[in-house]
Amino acid sequence: MKQDVTGPADGRAITSDEGLRARLLGRQAERESSARTYARHLPVVPVHAQGALVTGMDGRTYIDCLSGAGTLALGHNYPAVVDVLRATLERRAPLHVLDMITPEKDAFTSELLGVLPGDLGGSARVHFCGPTGADAVEAALKLARLATGRQGVVAFSGAYHGMTMGASAVSGGDRMRMLAGAGSAEVSRLPFPYDYRCPFGVGGGETARLSVQLLENLLDDPASGLALPAAVIVEVVQGEGGVIPASDNWLREVRRITEERGIVLILDEVQTGVGRTGTFWACQRADVVPDILVMSKAVGGGLPLALIAYRPELDVWLPGDHTGTFRGNTLAMVAGEVTLRTVREERLDQRAVTVGARLAEGLEQLVAAHGFLGQARGRGLMLGVEVVDPHGSPDRLGVLPPAPARAQALRSACVDTGLLLELGGRHDTVLRLLPPLILSDAQADQILERLSVAFTRCASWNGHEER
Ligand code: PMP
Repeated sequence: MKQDVTGPADGRAITSDEGLRARLLGRQAERESSARTYARHLPVVPVHAQGALVTGMDGRTYIDCLSGAGTLALGHNYPAVVDVLRATLERRAPLHVLDMITPEKDAFTSELLGVLPGDLGGSARVHFCGPTGADAVEAALKLARLATGRQGVVAFSGAYHGMTMGASAVSGGDRMRMLAGAGSAEVSRLPFPYDYRCPFGVGGGETARLSVQLLENLLDDPASGLALPAAVIVEVVQGEGGVIPASDNWLREVRRITEERGIVLILDEVQTGVGRTGTFWACQRADVVPDILVMSKAVGGGLPLALIAYRPELDVWLPGDHTGTFRGNTLAMVAGEVTLRTVREERLDQRAVTVGARLAEGLEQLVAAHGFLGQARGRGLMLGVEVVDPHGSPDRLGVLPPAPARAQALRSACVDTGLLLELGGRHDTVLRLLPPLILSDAQADQILERLSVAFTRCASWNGHEER
């Protein structure tokens, strides 16, 4: 797990080729759609990657605080993952088998069932979906509707569940919902307990209390306009929404409220799963077990894989109710099995707690040092810092307005200092850190040093925030 923090781990020299780098970036801008995202802000052409480090065609080595949007729990090219992929190819295992059973899929499923939260572990049914988180969200919504015979879904402000129509419809972003079209009609949205920018204008622990109070009241008031829904869908820590953890108590209350009313609780752990937040599944911290658990990203060990696990009594669908061609990717099964096993055996969830605490402490110091950083927050190795406008007027809770232009300047400065990271959250003002769980202490310290350099460089930024 030891890695060189300044260059490729195997000591290989990467020759920089600025001409080719510029040509590739230029061709991408010409040929690829205007909907591309990370590529717009990260002028890096990755050519080599090991662990938490990515080397670009510019010859520079970056610390990867994206990890494929949280996919690479074990970092890039983890030796045991590379070995199992090579061995699988060498023995000519069928790489694509629709949803037929293979020894690799059986082994993956056994490992997965062994790590599922609470009683899901002993009894769950699993359904392999098309290979993205969004398709697993679609499956979860569809199953909840089939099992309850109801259509409505309660989702939360700031949520991100993916870009297919159904997943967009339960997400928070205005544009996503607009593009989701008719599907959004069935969705009711309630405020997520984002206490920093409290939707109720109170803040602190009251935010969570009022959020569940509102949920329960709307469900029980026959004139509230909210009919009994099929499901409530939640991220335990909102990721794209700006790294906002829900408190354990809030989650327990949502579990109680849904259970008492026969509403299916869907937990979307696409981003929080597999050790990321300090427990294997984020819901385990609160001892909450969902009716349907949505999984993707790290479960495939860096290869595309998505599935849901659910209580057996929900298994009401008919053959073909949720099919898809790519549901049997053998390489993803073997990489996923090794990843789940390694996180379990090496207690990398615990590692996320310790190295995450180291990072969180450093982030707190940075927030104390810079007036344009409003709050550092997160759980385990899912961390974020919210960028605010120090010249703006504080709201009634004393919180400064978001500063999207400054956040963009900070992101560029971070890339310049050798960090791969992105913005998320409301107005894209949260700098997000999602490094792999194998991050060393030295690498964590380097992240903090690089952030500090970037923030200091931007301290005199005097751009303009659009209002
Ligand atoms: N749910 C959550 C919580 C996510 O963070 C994401 C992706 N960021 C998705 C669903 C969608 O996953 P995918 O991009 O693989 O469709």
